[in-house]
Amino acid sequence: MAHHTHSHDHEEPEAGRVHESVDDDVDARDDWARRRRKGIPTDKQLLVVACMDERIPVEEALGLQLGDAQVFRNAGGKVTDDVIRSAALTTQFFDTTEIIVVNHTDCGMMSASDEDVVAGMEAAVDDIDDVPLDPSLPDLNVGDHSLAEWIRMTDDIDEACEAQVEYLREHELIPDDVTVHGYVYEVESGHLRRPGERVAERVNERV
Ligand code: ZN
Repeated sequence: MAHHTHSHDHEEPEAGRVHESVDDDVDARDDWARRRRKGIPTDKQLLVVACMDERIPVEEALGLQLGDAQVFRNAGGKVTDDVIRSAALTTQFFDTTEIIVVNHTDCGMMSASDEDVVAGMEAAVDDIDDVPLDPSLPDLNVGDHSLAEWIRMTDDIDEACEAQVEYLREHELIPDDVTVHGYVYEVESGHLRRPGERVAERVNERV
């Protein structure tokens, strides 16, 4: 049995010193409970922006544990105004230095035409131009702008992923030294790939 042999690589607390390991636990708990107001960043200083699709195990795919990253998920994993808001806050005030965007194959944002989605939205309300996009900002509505552009359906997931990365890299509210990368999660294989590097279409062709 392990406890009959004395292990030299594991330091046992000396007699009368148990309080030291208890104190470490108490301090760690306090850091965890008050990390935001203590200015402690996420363990990986990472923000993940991903589609809300239920088939994407975001943390597992990126090898993340609880506490490693902040995760923002929405329809399509799109860089919307609230993604910019959240990314600006965490990079400027919470020491987040990296952003990863995760889009995926068979995304619902590719499952219908712009026209069909716009027609569905318009049918649901009296006048789409009067519908506030943000309940706390009633003045914020589509107005003269394109409802389709607000919804942002997708034609090509690899191009869409690269576009999200570009939006974040170039946004003025996100510091220049923040690194931004994007990946496509393949629901059919359960693996991530870099956008534009789909293997399946190329392995059966002459190099
Ligand atoms: Zn999706």
